[in-house]
Amino acid sequence: MQKKSLLANAKNVYNKNQVLEIENAIDFASKAHKNQKRRSGEAYITHPIAVANKLIEWGMDSDSVIAGLLHDTVEDTEVKLEEIESIFGRDVAFLVDGLTKISQARAGMKDLSNYLPQTKDNLSKLLIAVGQDIRVIIIKLADRLHNLETLSYLPKEYQKKVARESLEVFAPMADRLGMGQIRVKIEELAFFYLDHAAYKKTEALMRKRLGKSTRKLGAIREEVVKALNAQNIHSDVNGRVKSIYSLYKKLRKVSGNVDDVYDLMALRIIVDTKEDCYRVLGILHAIYQPIITKIKDYIAIPKPNGYQSLHTTVITPAKQIVEFQIRTKEMHEYNERGLAASFHYNEHKLSKDYIENKKSSTMPANLQWITQLQEVAQRLTNNEEISRDQLTIDLFSDRIFVYSPKGDIYNLPEGALPLDFAYLVHSDIGKHSASFRVNGNIHPFDKPLSNGDVVEVITRPLSQAKQAWLSLMKTSHGKSKLKGQLKKPDAITSIRKSRDKNI
Ligand code: MN
Repeated sequence: MQKKSLLANAKNVYNKNQVLEIENAIDFASKAHKNQKRRSGEAYITHPIAVANKLIEWGMDSDSVIAGLLHDTVEDTEVKLEEIESIFGRDVAFLVDGLTKISQARAGMKDLSNYLPQTKDNLSKLLIAVGQDIRVIIIKLADRLHNLETLSYLPKEYQKKVARESLEVFAPMADRLGMGQIRVKIEELAFFYLDHAAYKKTEALMRKRLGKSTRKLGAIREEVVKALNAQNIHSDVNGRVKSIYSLYKKLRKVSGNVDDVYDLMALRIIVDTKEDCYRVLGILHAIYQPIITKIKDYIAIPKPNGYQSLHTTVITPAKQIVEFQIRTKEMHEYNERGLAASFHYNEHKLSKDYIENKKSSTMPANLQWITQLQEVAQRLTNNEEISRDQLTIDLFSDRIFVYSPKGDIYNLPEGALPLDFAYLVHSDIGKHSASFRVNGNIHPFDKPLSNGDVVEVITRPLSQAKQAWLSLMKTSHGKSKLKGQLKKPDAITSIRKSRDKNI
């Protein structure tokens, strides 16, 4: 990737001044990295240019593209942050500073024998940087993806370290941001380097099976297109092949038998409107027998990262099992590009919005996660101890949705307990929890909530937060609110204390 083609791509997206600034940043970075080379032997500047180009492709704003160009200057060259601030402004400097901090955290990881010796520290710093501006992490994802693409030039043990870190930290981050396409790219490359034998084996298995499935699906696709046309539904029907890494993960779940993987290849139906999605679902169920437990409506209730689609798995008259995914074009676009795409359309509005809008429940489901992430970042900034397990629960575990009796939706990690819900709604509600009703029935403090539960917290003014509750919560949000309450003497005690003093 060269300067010229980057500028050509930028011109398609940004205004004249922005393109000029991008050109400035290319020259600035070229000069700073002048005598440096990548391991591949190429000039170093090819790397930041490649990163910046990904950010343009992903639909990021021009400040992010400029920060992408400058992301290694403070860490690897003589350039000072103040210089960047005076030339490119505070926003760009802030982003570059976040990226530099992440690199510095990673540089601390020297022990190659243990792949993730300091993940906690590393991740923590990552989060602190990100807590204030999610663009930092999106730029970092572009940086990481390009490093994975050029990983073959690095020594073997380093390859494995980067690959493992990518699978454990960066792919889940991409997933949380709804960037499905990027997550898959990171996973495929990382898996390739981390366990090459398993990658090759899974790939061969996939290729062998795909020949068969493609023929079978071709006929079904034709049948479906005909049925949709007959109802005047404008649609695009294509095969979606499972990624090698997700096949590998699935195979481990079904004890290695590829015949038990029904969604190796799914049919993806893209239509014009949301209403059409449901009409298509109806038509499919009229011609094929659906497997009831596999019908998923992620349109009415999106996944926590914002993913939207209808899923159904059906049995054809020839006893074939086929998965369908039905969505509009806009949903498809979001599912592939996620949060990154929103920055281009909203420029800075989005980042300002989520900084100012702290209350989790008033955010759209896909942004609630960001508030949670910011909270964790804040606590790390305050030097609170958060274990790696706790971070995993808070940020990367599967999520469930539960409802308040009024119908407000809250997302919690899988395994969350009723007190987690109470403290998420409001710390005062948590504090005075006396008992819980779930779907109308009394529910014990120690029994996990399930997806779709309607949870009612019964409060009593005299009921007070207890030390023992710490073991009755899974989220660090809840635990830290409770700890705060336990530290503060309640009103009655403090009145008594001040009175005692006066005596
Ligand atoms: Mn870099």
